[in-house]
Amino acid sequence: MSVVGIDLGFQSCYVAVARAGGIETVANEYSDRSTPSCIAFGPKNRSIGAAAKSQVISNAKNTVQGFKRFHGRAFSDPFVQAEKDNLAYELVQLPTGSAGIKVMYMEEERNFTIEQVTGMLLTKLKETAENALKKPVVDCVVSVPCFYTDAERRSVMDATQIAGLNCLRLINETTSVALAYGIYKQDLPALEEKPRNVVFVDMGHSSYQVSVCAFNKGKLKVLATAFDTTLGGRKFDEMLVNYFCEEFGKKYKLDIKSKIRPLLRLFQECEKLKKLMSANASDLPMNIECFMNDIDVSGTMNRGKFLEMCDGLLARVEPPLRSVLEQAKLKKEDIYAVEIVGGTTRIPAVKERISKFFGKEVSTTLNADEAVARGCALQCAILSPAFKVREFSITDLVPYPISLRWNSPAEEGLSNCEVFPKNHAAPFSKVLSFFRREPFTLEAYYTSPKELPYPDPAIAQFLVQKVMPQTDGSSSKVKVKVRVNIHGIFSVSSASLVEVHKSDENEEPMETDQHAKEEEKMQVDQEEQQKNEEQQQAQADSKAESEEMETSQAGSKDKKMDQPPQAKKAKVKTSTVDLPIENQLLWQIGKDMLNLFIENEGKMIMQDKLEKERNDAKNAVEEYVYDMRDKLCGLYEKFVSEDDRNSFTLKLEDTENWLYEDGEDQPKQVYIDKLTELQSLGQPIQARFQESEERPKAFEDLGKQIQQYMKVIHAFKAKDEQYDHLDAADMVKVEKSVSEAMEWMNNKLNLQNKRSLTLDPVIKTKDIQAKTKELTGICNPIVTKPKPKAEIPKEEQNPAEQNGPVEGQGDANTGSQPAEQGTNTTAPTATEKKLPEMDID
Ligand code: ATP
Ligand code: MG
Repeated sequence: MSVVGIDLGFQSCYVAVARAGGIETVANEYSDRSTPSCIAFGPKNRSIGAAAKSQVISNAKNTVQGFKRFHGRAFSDPFVQAEKDNLAYELVQLPTGSAGIKVMYMEEERNFTIEQVTGMLLTKLKETAENALKKPVVDCVVSVPCFYTDAERRSVMDATQIAGLNCLRLINETTSVALAYGIYKQDLPALEEKPRNVVFVDMGHSSYQVSVCAFNKGKLKVLATAFDTTLGGRKFDEMLVNYFCEEFGKKYKLDIKSKIRPLLRLFQECEKLKKLMSANASDLPMNIECFMNDIDVSGTMNRGKFLEMCDGLLARVEPPLRSVLEQAKLKKEDIYAVEIVGGTTRIPAVKERISKFFGKEVSTTLNADEAVARGCALQCAILSPAFKVREFSITDLVPYPISLRWNSPAEEGLSNCEVFPKNHAAPFSKVLSFFRREPFTLEAYYTSPKELPYPDPAIAQFLVQKVMPQTDGSSSKVKVKVRVNIHGIFSVSSASLVEVHKSDENEEPMETDQHAKEEEKMQVDQEEQQKNEEQQQAQADSKAESEEMETSQAGSKDKKMDQPPQAKKAKVKTSTVDLPIENQLLWQIGKDMLNLFIENEGKMIMQDKLEKERNDAKNAVEEYVYDMRDKLCGLYEKFVSEDDRNSFTLKLEDTENWLYEDGEDQPKQVYIDKLTELQSLGQPIQARFQESEERPKAFEDLGKQIQQYMKVIHAFKAKDEQYDHLDAADMVKVEKSVSEAMEWMNNKLNLQNKRSLTLDPVIKTKDIQAKTKELTGICNPIVTKPKPKAEIPKEEQNPAEQNGPVEGQGDANTGSQPAEQGTNTTAPTATEKKLPEMDID
């Protein structure tokens, strides 16, 4: 199981993983921890991340960026419509009505859904994680803005599936940051103490989010969130772009906005300028060569002027800060720290506005770029059974109040009920009871469309099926469980029908009477949190709340729930039957469609892989040409005849030309064949060079070995005490082998010395090595035979014992027993003078 966290940013993404050493933000193939949220479509493949970013201008129409906020939106959505005209690529209405992108891919016009596009980006991020972890990645946690509605969240969930990921949690970006902050804090107040309130501010490229969280030991509770969904770095870039469009327009008579390429370049340059201004208050130049119509443009800007231009944007910093305090009923003094993250908080004026509001310095203890991803990885580690992480519970909230609406025959019209008020703890489940005779529909919607940064308050419709009256014709009690799940998505998660079985005639008639009165009504029975949130204090609070809701919803008509059900139902047996629910979710991709997208993503991954292999094969040919051409006039010069060199050089030049002409775009096999053909010419030269590099050492080793044995023979003949235990017949064998090896070596050396280097050598290194092995195989067992008495010889003839391992000895055979086997383990040192014949080339 993999532990991976993904910050899916508007401009760039980060991937963090959990390893034995802790949480680590990992780098992509460009050694960059940030991966641009960018996909470029080409005639043969897709490029994702940094490779796509470099095509923003050159392949403008087919390079997609800035799509994060199109998730779960209709093409007709005012936000989509407003963005549409500023994009270099084309946005289209898909048959489902949702927004899609239209690009040329594989030389065909193709429409992709936003889920597919994000799926592609996730494919890349998954690969980055896999490269870092060196194993397949499936499980992960992905971040989304805290203000995302259900449709947006579901859309991102679909994208994760398209990329073959199993998203264990969609976590709110600010909550992820809070987790990254809190889990390492050792000094949080104890559970019974007043919590520590910390404000988290994230201003990225597209949006601005603020949350206030209460921390106690081992837990965090999000108290409130507020946001400005369109305030981010790009708004500041736009200010500069608009300024220079006007300035350059007047100065150089250019209509910059009429052409996408110069406009995109200006955006890039303005972003750079904006960043420079964060560090520098002086005048800064804005120069772009060959900007438009071959004109070079230049201008200046400074921080003071920039801030003046951005006054309206900066004024939008404060309201969300004020809002979170109001919602959480906290005063500025109650705030322990204000932690800021997100690239745009690097603008000094943004920082100042925040610190001025709170009357305290902001903290930048968290990594502004990586905190979200790190928090995601931490959440994934908490959810993963494979990882041991400090206990830390997270209670998030419901950002917008959620209501249910249903047709109520008893009340002759629509009834509704707010099931989750704003800032209600999440994830959370509640059980509602309805008294019905037939299937019915529950319509979920956001109660306050005005505060919703989304045009449609509808969430979904849930048809509770197979509802039947009781056997006596009265209404059945239908228990419906509604839930805001771990991803922050609302659903009717289950429904069951309570069947009443009467056991005898004297049964209490109350129940059915009661039902008759209650008919077609609804009551909130209870609230419950799911398993992993159960420990939390919040649950107890909410349960108390739920009792109140029950009476307020059901009035005084039904008090049964206040007492144990058994007390009243002594003569009535009940059983429950699960009911199927049919969902109609806003902008939800159908299962078949999703499967098709998953399949298509697989095909595109395969296509990218094939294209990469083809390119690698082509690059290999190119590399070989350059490398060989260099070496033929350098390292390999001596090893090839002039004629061969000339013809080979010619061949290499032809290949180089071919690569730029006919060979520019060939199937992989053509490049492989081309390389093989060149290698067949180059390989013998390369081998001769290699041999000549290795041969002297091989001869030297053999020479040393011969020399060592000769020394032993000599000592044996001189009746040296050290060798007097050796067998004379054996020593004759040694002498014979040594002289035969010496003759062999001298012969080969002489032949080789006479041979031209441009021809294959008379003897291969491996044969010399084999000869050495053969010699030691015969001689070593004889000369290293241990002396019968275990007596430690004192003579200097055994330096191995005195000096430790000698040159060439693999391991420390320094004990009193000589080594049993091995080539260089004989007693004599290897530093004797060389044999006179050893003239090594
Ligand atoms: P979002 O959070 O909206 O999805 P994101 O996560 O991709 O977007 P970040 O990476 O947090 O955004 O921030 C990117 C923004 O921060 C860009 O607008 C970038 O220009 C801006 N930024 C980065 N560094 C600086 C700086 N030194 N000064 C000013 N702005 C900066
Ligand atoms: Mg961000």
